[in-house]
Amino acid sequence: MSENKKIDKPEILLHICCGPDSTAVYERLEPQYEVIGYFHNPNIYPEKEYHKRAENALKAGRELGFKVIIPEYNPEEWLKAVRGLEKEPEGGKRCEKCFRHNLEATAQKALELGISFFTTTLTISPHKSSDTIFKVGRGVAEEYGVMFLEADFKKKDGFKRSVELSRVLGLYRQKYCGCEYSMK
Ligand code: SF4
Repeated sequence: MSENKKIDKPEILLHICCGPDSTAVYERLEPQYEVIGYFHNPNIYPEKEYHKRAENALKAGRELGFKVIIPEYNPEEWLKAVRGLEKEPEGGKRCEKCFRHNLEATAQKALELGISFFTTTLTISPHKSSDTIFKVGRGVAEEYGVMFLEADFKKKDGFKRSVELSRVLGLYRQKYCGCEYSMK
């Protein structure tokens, strides 16, 4: 556990795919966990868009009161991870690799920070299969020895709530998933 813990809740490292999605997820996790955000998304293209989304993740954290860690933008490793799957449709095999890439990095970071739990905002998206994300999360948890919280944030109108909160906070919401292959 990290030093100077203020309250008696376990810490959880939350992989944040974007600021808007983090709002409703934070609201749901906060009663039980000390949430620390991790904006690890080298899938985002182009770099300008990455920084815009990173800024909005920071803004969500500032407004709601949680810390967000932003690593360096490193798209080369991600491109390597999805090589050969460029033509896959959204929701296909490339996305599963993409989830794995980001969740592995989150589990690694949790280990580094001494945090026992990790999870992701990805399940809030109506376009993403929560079952696939859970399968990936379970595999990563087993590999790295960090506990994965299987939470389906799209349930109980999670996405709708994220739209409402993002509007109130004035957050930018992107029009495509993230990678260059999802721009069309
Ligand atoms: S469409 Fe989205 S989830 Fe799929 S590979 Fe691209 S960025 Fe990742």
